[in-house]
Amino acid sequence: MINPDRTIQTTCPYCGVGCQIDLHVKDNLIYRVSGRFDNQVNHGNLCVKGRFGFDFTHAPDRLTQPMVRKDRRQPFDKSTYTTWESALDLVAQRFRAIRDEHGPNSIAFLTSAKCTNEENYLLQKLARAVIGTNNVDHCARL
Ligand code: SF4
Repeated sequence: MINPDRTIQTTCPYCGVGCQIDLHVKDNLIYRVSGRFDNQVNHGNLCVKGRFGFDFTHAPDRLTQPMVRKDRRQPFDKSTYTTWESALDLVAQRFRAIRDEHGPNSIAFLTSAKCTNEENYLLQKLARAVIGTNNVDHCARL
């Protein structure tokens, strides 16, 4: 049996059930996931995604910073990497331009079950209070 360097208590990010899990880490690698028994959500149980779906965290091609293309025909390569500040500024500029030209209902927001309740709450606030649209939906209805 492998002894972990550390065990991290967290919430499974795959769906809104919110199962509680322990990530077992050795040499900075998540090598095992176990369900926690000390909660009323999953009582130690996990579905296949929660138990085995964490290999993406070590994928060598995982995106860890934003990429922006000036032209849609431009391929994604090292030149398309940018900073979070630059990418967020661009998104804000484009949202403002689209809203001003076509109205707030030309924009829709699709949130995610992988987000926390608080993140989903903030996104609908952004949609309603900042952009001015009620076009908010959720991937669980797909
Ligand atoms: S373990 Fe399965 S049921 Fe539980 S939160 Fe993750 S995806 Fe949802």
